[in-house]
Formats: sequence, C-alpha cells, structure tokens
Amino acid sequence: MWAQGFSEPGAGSDLASLRTSATLDGDHYLVNGQKIWTTEAGQSDWGFFLVRTDNTAKPQRGISMIVLDLKSPGVTVRAIPTINGECSTWEVFLEDVHVPKGQMIGAPGSGWDQGKFLLSNERTASSDIEKSWGDLKRIREIASQQRRNGRSVLDDPVFAARLQEAELMVQALEWSVLRVLLEAPSEHPVAARASVLKVRGSELQQRLNELMVQALGARSLRVYRRDEAFGDGFHANSLWPDYVPGVTADLLYQRALTIYGGAREVQKNIIAKLAFGL
Ligand SMILES: Cc1cc2nc3c(=O)[nH]c(=O)nc-3n(C[C@H](O)[C@H](O)[C@H](O)COP(=O)(O)OP(=O)(O)OC[C@H]3O[C@@H](n4cnc5c(N)ncnc54)[C@H](O)[C@@H]3O)c2cc1C
Repeated sequence: MWAQGFSEPGAGSDLASLRTSATLDGDHYLVNGQKIWTTEAGQSDWGFFLVRTDNTAKPQRGISMIVLDLKSPGVTVRAIPTINGECSTWEVFLEDVHVPKGQMIGAPGSGWDQGKFLLSNERTASSDIEKSWGDLKRIREIASQQRRNGRSVLDDPVFAARLQEAELMVQALEWSVLRVLLEAPSEHPVAARASVLKVRGSELQQRLNELMVQALGARSLRVYRRDEAFGDGFHANSLWPDYVPGVTADLLYQRALTIYGGAREVQKNIIAKLAFGL
C-alpha cells in the first residue's frame, strides 16, 4: 500500500512552496519536514514524496520525487480524524530519515513534472464514474422503499426529475472521461481536460450524496458509521433499515471531494489558463 506525500502545512494549492528537504549525504538522502492530509499513511508501507533538493533553483525546479519506506526510523505518523468519524488522513513527520540515493525517481529536479503527471491521472480518475452509477442505483433503491405523503419517494415528480437529471449528467461525464482516455483529438491540453473532469465529477458525486439524503428525509439524521451501525443490537431497532447508516457520514466526508486532488477553485484557474489562455 502506497501513500502520496505532496501536501504540507502551508503548501497545498501552492504546492511549489513545499519545504520538506532532502539533502544528499554520501549514498543516501537525509529527509526532514512534515506532510499533511496524507491519505492512509498509517496503513501504508511506502510513500512517494515530493521533497526540495535545491533551494537555489526556481521553486518548481528544486523539487524531486523520492520513494520512502514508511517504517524507516525517523518517520512518525499521526491520524487526523475526519468529520465522518473515521481516520483516513494523516500527518507524516520526517526527522533525519535516511533514504538511499537510488530511491529518487528520475533526475533531481524532475519531481514537479512527475507530480503534475500523477495529479492529472488522479483528476481524471476522481470523476469516479463507477461509484456514481452505483450511487444512482442505491438512490433508486432507497427512494423506492422510502414513503412520503402516501407514496414512494421515487414517485414524487420533483425527486424523480432531479434523479433523472443526475443520471444524464453521469452519462455525459462518462462519455467525456472516455474521450480523454481514448486520447480523442482536442484543442485543449490533457491537464485542462483532467481538471474539467475533476470539477464536474466531484460536484456530481456531492449532488448524488445530497439526493440520497433527500430520499431518506429525517432518517438521514442518523449519522452512524457503517461499521459501528452493524454492531450488536443495531438490528433490534427496526426503525432504521440497513440502508440508513453511513449516508449522512458520507455526505459530510464528501465535502472533501472538491478539495483533495486540487481544490475546485484552483482547477478552475488551471482550466482558465490552459484551455482559454486567460
Ligand atoms: C480528505 C483529503 C485527503 C487528502 N489526501 C491527500 C494525499 O493523499 N496526499 C496529499 O499530498 N494531499 C492530500 N490532501 C491535501 C489536498 O491536496 C489539499 O487539501 C488541497 O490541495 C488544498 O490545499 P490546502 O488544504 O492547503 O488548502 P489551501 O491551498 O490553503 O486552500 C484554501 C482555500 O483557498 C482556495 N485557494 C487557494 N489558492 C487559490 C487560488 N490561487 N485561487 C483561488 N482560490 C484559491 C482553495 O480553493 C481553498 O478553497 C487531501 C485533502 C483532503 C481534504
């Protein structure tokens, strides 16, 4: 399992200002600094980290990528609890961590380009079409079982229209993702298109979460984590069907979708610059 160590306190959107340093010392680098929001760092074996190897070059050109064994002496990880009650994000503290010279990826100073390449792939993937189709199916199931004003929520014309609109948007996004994956000719660079998919995909997933909560109505206030909910005794409470727990916890966590992988506002800046030359 791998973790991605890019962001630092003070270097998220402005990643080029990152300060974690790697200083060459014989046949290894000595790494010092701190990363933050590192997803699953506590469960990961290794991480790929962006580090500063040159303080004199232009900020982007002084950055390199290393791979680092997270069990190395000098690595400390600390969990950051998230609003859904889980702990998927971590702080990573690096103190005189020895990293063999051969664990640098590519040439010193090429980390910025590698980071951009990976982020572009992450942004394309974060449109997460498969999950959206799964969520749509789940929304239909929940809405068909939930009753309001004497009929199923699915039969409510306003709810049904919202659901159909969301379905069309997922379908349109799927075609856009396929166009990028098939490298269909485009006047716009792939990084700009990846940012479009990221913005659209993340907003759409948040919309699907909202629909799920709307389908549940007041029942959604039951903010159980799924793993807790299905512990002893839960099923004794027949007021709460199996599809209730976790929905609101997911809605709350999914606010992060428009932050991680590059915040929405920053994606819009990228689109403006790369696609429209603004
Ligand atoms: C759940 C989660 C998981 C994450 N996982 C990882 C991970 O595995 N690895 C990793 O390296 N990082 C990870 N991150 C970090 C993520 O990439 C950063 O949070 C993100 O890039 C934003 O940086 P920041 O938090 O420092 O916010 P800031 O950069 O401080 O931004 C704060 C606000 O200001 C806005 N803003 C900033 N600059 C501009 C600008 N130029 N124009 C307009 N608006 C601007 C932003 O849009 C945002 O709304 C994760 C974050 C979260 C929430």
